[in-house]
Amino acid sequence: MVFPFTSSEDFKIEIGEEHELFRKSIREFVESKVMPRWREIEETNRIPEEILKEAAQLGIFGVGIPEEYGGQGGGHLMTALMMEEIARAVPSLSVTIGVNHLFAVPVMLFGSEEQKKKYIPPIARGEARGAHANTEPSGGSDVAGIQTRARKENGHYIISGRKVFISGAADADYLVVSARTSPPKEDKRWWGLSVFIVEKDTPGLKIGQQFKVLGMRGEQPYEVILEEVKVPEENLVGPENEGFKVIVSTYDYTRIGIAAQAVGIAQAGFEKALNYSLQRELFGQQLIQFEMIIEKIADMYMKLEAARLLTYWAATLADRGKREFVVAASLAKAFATEAAEWIARQAIQIHGGYGVDPETGVERYLRDAIITTIYEGTNEIQRLTIVRQLVRQTFGMRI
Ligand SMILES: Cc1cc2nc3c(=O)[nH]c(=O)nc-3n(C[C@H](O)[C@H](O)[C@H](O)COP(=O)(O)OP(=O)(O)OC[C@H]3O[C@@H](n4cnc5c(N)ncnc54)[C@H](O)[C@@H]3O)c2cc1C
Repeated sequence: MVFPFTSSEDFKIEIGEEHELFRKSIREFVESKVMPRWREIEETNRIPEEILKEAAQLGIFGVGIPEEYGGQGGGHLMTALMMEEIARAVPSLSVTIGVNHLFAVPVMLFGSEEQKKKYIPPIARGEARGAHANTEPSGGSDVAGIQTRARKENGHYIISGRKVFISGAADADYLVVSARTSPPKEDKRWWGLSVFIVEKDTPGLKIGQQFKVLGMRGEQPYEVILEEVKVPEENLVGPENEGFKVIVSTYDYTRIGIAAQAVGIAQAGFEKALNYSLQRELFGQQLIQFEMIIEKIADMYMKLEAARLLTYWAATLADRGKREFVVAASLAKAFATEAAEWIARQAIQIHGGYGVDPETGVERYLRDAIITTIYEGTNEIQRLTIVRQLVRQTFGMRI
């Protein structure tokens, strides 16, 4: 077998009729309720409340969350299909949903039974919203280097620090927050971090400025300030000082959703470009008759399908509980997000001047795709993960 496969089973993508029926139901919802409002979302930089309410009624917030915690069940592949279909319509809506996963996944993976029972059902039903506050001004890639501090006092932790680029923070009822609880060990920089649940009305928690980033209008991130925020010790997620694992294990799973988001963006850009190349006539013939355009369309399609297969494969490995899903998720995230960026760029080119006119609704795909290459581990960090895993598993060496 070749890395990262350990058996022929690992080549499988387990997609069935139930997945396609599910895709159809999500597609019907987004095509009727979300797509028609893309311009309004771009202009107002808000997802309308009615859309979120309807998404909640359809159970969209509960996909991927077990039924015993109020969710709809469904695994990583089901979640990926949902993210893809939503991103095909309005990518920022898939960020709103992804942010809830960024809250729910660490609690589901490492939280106590009490935490799961208290915080997950309202999130799964769409009655409460979550956020994930890890990145700091000192650098998001270096999770071990975070500066926010938490000290223990009389059964509570007191947290102080500043977080940046926190999606959904202004609407969040609950946030997971990372902080340093102990100095790092000499040989383990990552040791000494802890993760906490902070509820929105906790004194000292402030939502600061909104970052007006290039894309994902509708769900742009915020600054979060913590000034002596006091949380009960029951709000610690996972063991004290082991928070690094809580954070990075979360992204192992959630970055499959980012890959899927990118597939949705790529699909949307591809469809628009293909339709336009069939409709537009120049020099007395359809645009698609020109060889250079045919080549672009073929290359776009190749990258789109390769991105989709990598994403479904990573999701299937995660659903089957195979550890190889971690490297597959990094491969899928890096490849799909760069494919989306490239496809979106070609879609603009095929549309000529109309491609750079926001009214056409094509240039937004490029702006949104660029963001997917940055968050939940930049693509440089994905490449580090891929090569480190490859060298460790094939040669038993750490680099
Ligand atoms: C729209 C948006 C939404 C976001 N939402 C959230 C959120 O909800 N919660 C949250 O916690 N964070 C969020 N983030 C933050 C995001 O995860 C970080 O921006 C990202 O991890 C990179 O961190 P940084 O911006 O500090 O860049 P840096 O870490 O400073 O990196 C700068 C550059 O150096 C490269 N680099 C870093 N380390 C290495 C290395 N070892 N080798 C090679 N190159 C390297 C990076 O790839 C990058 O190109 C969001 C960001 C954006 C843009």
